[in-house]
Amino acid sequence: MTEIIDGDAVAQSIRDDLSTAIDQLDAEGIRPSLATVLMSDDPASETYVSMKQDDCAEVGIEAIDIEIDPDADGSELYDTIDDLNADGNVDGILVQMPVPDHVSDREVLRAIDPEKDVDGFHPENVGRLVAGDARYKPCTPHGIQKLIESAGVDTEGKEAVVVGRSDIVGKPMANLFIQKAPGGNATTTVCHSRTEDLAAKTREADVLVAAAGVPEMIDGDMIQEGATVIDVGINRVDADNEKGYELVGDVAYESAKERAGAITPVPGGVGPMTRAMLLYNTVKAAGLQHGVAVDLP
Ligand code: NAD
Repeated sequence: MTEIIDGDAVAQSIRDDLSTAIDQLDAEGIRPSLATVLMSDDPASETYVSMKQDDCAEVGIEAIDIEIDPDADGSELYDTIDDLNADGNVDGILVQMPVPDHVSDREVLRAIDPEKDVDGFHPENVGRLVAGDARYKPCTPHGIQKLIESAGVDTEGKEAVVVGRSDIVGKPMANLFIQKAPGGNATTTVCHSRTEDLAAKTREADVLVAAAGVPEMIDGDMIQEGATVIDVGINRVDADNEKGYELVGDVAYESAKERAGAITPVPGGVGPMTRAMLLYNTVKAAGLQHGVAVDLP
């Protein structure tokens, strides 16, 4: 029987379990806070930010909502980040990507105080992750580790294959898989758009993470019998329904389900975990910044 890994349920248990750390902070008079900065009028980005704010409210994190006109000069964004860096009441800072073309996303990530960089994308935090001393694990790969753990799968000594080499998913995922730590110790292969014979690589995987952004590119034939399959992709494809589209992953779910030992659905798999792990990092940030030892799930 293939296990369907329920990302909504695992995310809910992370949120529930964060209450221990939030109570520990509360006992010291501290309420964790996350500042979200949106410099975009893209409806998808607006939705992502409002979901993050709702998530914060649900667990008792203060959400500070900052919007900057996308036509404004980049200096307005940098000044805002400087103010948030200096503000002792702000524990985490998240600038919703992408920023407008006239602003450098790399420079923006560098401007955020690494101690408040709850996305974990500042070069200092990337370096710490690679060195095996992560301060904040990036939310999507960290959430994937929790999903794999929830399925009772131990990655130690296994073949892990990651499809995609982005800075936010593929690269940090591969780095976590090779760490000498629980959720790591896997022999890891990273595939990308120039990989020859992708199917030959994915068929080797005991644990397969698909993060290419190509609708249903991994089908059942590309999966080893019994593999754990984690589908990160969120792709809009035309559909004959009211909305005119539906969301599909990078994995062809029906055929993959026939072969996988465990698999995440889209939606309801990785997406909710990415959101939950942002809350986790924000609570961790509050503990670090106020010098309170917190017990995290
Ligand atoms: P990206 O576009 O930055 O990177 C895609 C990667 O896939 C690239 O490294 C590229 O080399 C590789 N790739 C593209 N086509 C390929 C092919 N045919 N064969 C092999 N490799 C190929 O994407 P990203 O930001 O990492 O996101 C990937 C997908 O995951 C997207 O669908 C995105 O929407 C989704 N995503 C979901 C979450 C979530 O929380 N569920 C979070 C982040 C991204």
